[in-house]
Order: sequence, then structure tokens, then C-alpha cells
Amino acid sequence: MKKEIHPKYFRTTVTCACGNSFETGSTKENLRVEICSKCHPFYTGTRVRVVETGGRVDKFKKKYGLK
Ligand SMILES: [Zn+2]
Repeated sequence: MKKEIHPKYFRTTVTCACGNSFETGSTKENLRVEICSKCHPFYTGTRVRVVETGGRVDKFKKKYGLK
């Protein structure tokens, strides 16, 4: 039976396992995900790496009196 050829498109709140939630469009009313853009290893890993690098550069510069 083809009741819904075009399923309803909801403004969906996606809730992530990390506690983050964001809105997106989906055919489902509510979504739960285990990984989002905030806690995905790729994103967090990148962010942490950038911060770490920045800190090291700062320390390096201070150590050698560079600006
Ligand atoms: Zn998350």
C-alpha cells in the first residue's frame, strides 16, 4: 500500500548521547544519535589537536622570547 508517497517532513530535534541537541529536517519526529558534530572523534580530535598545537606554539614562543 502506498499511503505516504511523500512522507511528512518534520523539523526534528536530534538529541545526541553526549547531551548536545540540534535541529534538523527529517521524516522522523525525534531522533537520537550517539555521535554528533560536537562529540564525533573527527571533530573533537581536530579541535583538541588545534588547541594543543596553539598552546605548544605559545609556550615555545614564550620560552624563546618570540612574539
Ligand atoms: Zn554528541
